[in-house]
Amino acid sequence: MQYEAPETTKAAVGLLAKAKGSAYVLAGGSDLLVRMKGGFVEPDLVVDIKRIKAMREVKKTASGFVIGAAVSCAEVNENKALIKAWPGVVEAAGLIGSKQVQSRCTMAGNLCNASPAADSVPALVAAGAKAVVQGPKGKRKVAVEDIPVGPGRNSLKKGELIEAIELPARKGKSGDAYLRFIPRTEMDIAVVSAGVSLTLGDKGVIKDARVALGAVAPTVRLVKEAAKAIIGTKLDEAALEKLGKAASAACSPIDDKRGTIEFRTKVAAVLAKRAAQIAYKRAGGK
Ligand SMILES: Cc1cc2nc3c(=O)[nH]c(=O)nc-3n(C[C@H](O)[C@H](O)[C@H](O)COP(=O)(O)OP(=O)(O)OC[C@H]3O[C@@H](n4cnc5c(N)ncnc54)[C@H](O)[C@@H]3O)c2cc1C
Repeated sequence: MQYEAPETTKAAVGLLAKAKGSAYVLAGGSDLLVRMKGGFVEPDLVVDIKRIKAMREVKKTASGFVIGAAVSCAEVNENKALIKAWPGVVEAAGLIGSKQVQSRCTMAGNLCNASPAADSVPALVAAGAKAVVQGPKGKRKVAVEDIPVGPGRNSLKKGELIEAIELPARKGKSGDAYLRFIPRTEMDIAVVSAGVSLTLGDKGVIKDARVALGAVAPTVRLVKEAAKAIIGTKLDEAALEKLGKAASAACSPIDDKRGTIEFRTKVAAVLAKRAAQIAYKRAGGK
């Protein structure tokens, strides 16, 4: 196995593009190294991105935040500007594994690993985040929800990697939240999860919203009907009821020992409603 730790994105893309056998990006390694140790993957080439300076920074720009692909979830958790603008995204990153795992793992790795239960992904989808993809043909920006295409599979082409994740700037009264259900208090995989982001207009009326669900389908799902149910409302009981129904209707989960189809479908509604209430409060709604 060849191990490389390039210092620029261009060099990383060059290595991945030229690779003959199986090539993997290594960020925190909290998924990749586990899979290698288990013998599930045997890479011919591993490209470590942690020495690429541009991927190690969180930048605040006029249009929002650019979070480098090698920024750890622990660093995300300590970034005061991010906590203020996107508390839901930060709390999702802060739920991954343990402090030890968070000191290594990244949100880009969480996204590329493409688990339907990945914690940061519903929060990023609700936030309208974009992945900055670099590859042999140049740069493209992809909506985060379009990166995972199935359990363990993503839409990146040969030679491509994610350089950064972009979060939009927060306008006016906005808030987001992420909740997951796990049978234990921590160190477990989401049985169901929900991310909600919303913006208020006049008098506390919701003018914009995005709702995403995790672990209820092969990929994290953006539920437009659930957002529609609360836009134009002050999140009254009727709107919450409609939101819950839309969330449940969007579920097509698996039935396993961690949760039945019935349980996941029901809890999706509960979590979507609770996350919306938290996001609404954070946006300044009463
Ligand atoms: C003990 C333990 C507990 C965990 N708990 C949770 C949990 O609660 N919630 C949760 O969601 N996950 C959990 N995980 C899984 C894992 O920690 C997360 O998915 C993490 O975010 C992966 O990030 P990473 O940087 O370590 O990815 P890596 O392992 O480095 O990479 C993961 C995959 O993505 C690819 N990749 C990484 N970065 C890029 C990039 N920039 N461009 C293209 N491809 C890339 C890699 O090639 C690999 O296939 C846990 C793992 C462990 C070991």
